[in-house]
Amino acid sequence: ELDLASLTRDLVTDLRVASSQQGVEIRLGVPAAPVPVMADAGQIARVVTNLVSNAVKFSQGASEVAVSVVRDGDDAVLTVEDHGIGIPSEELDQLGSRFYRASNAVHLGITGTGLGLRIVQAIVENHHGSVDLRSVQGVGTTVWVRLPVLQPDESHRADAADSTDPAEVG
Ligand code: ATP
Ligand code: MG
Repeated sequence: ELDLASLTRDLVTDLRVASSQQGVEIRLGVPAAPVPVMADAGQIARVVTNLVSNAVKFSQGASEVAVSVVRDGDDAVLTVEDHGIGIPSEELDQLGSRFYRASNAVHLGITGTGLGLRIVQAIVENHHGSVDLRSVQGVGTTVWVRLPVLQPDESHRADAADSTDPAEVG
């Protein structure tokens, strides 16, 4: 069991140091109450870190990134929103490809390997969640990650990704 709210709070605290040096302020909105998800802390930390790092990197300074965690029914929703360079609409469907980097990012000389989003997608799918991305070039990008909230009667189950679908339990 993992508290997505406190994990996100801790990671953002760490990421703020580097982002403020790049002129980007991270605003954080997480509930005080835990948002328990059945997930591996190290893997979900990679998801949060990859997405927030992208938001900061592609903001190109002097901008705000908003990170939030909310509970939406049976889902925990992590939202990472930036007002950066965005992604050209005609390239959005290529983001799923390995090593794909959008033309505007390449032209601006923003470095990366083009693997981060693939890793995010793989980890979230392995945890029975989903990733949505909306982006407008020159306006900004928002990414939503949905993960199933850990139900009280599931909390004895320690193994996250390999467990049975919650709908089939009990
Ligand atoms: P890596 O994460 O492997 O260091 P990367 O950041 O370039 O490299 P991804 O995180 O996989 O790669 O993202 C793939 C591409 O999608 C990026 O190169 C960029 O073109 C685009 N992209 C991802 N996130 C954003 C964002 N928040 N704003 C604008 N473009 C983005
Ligand atoms: Mg990245």
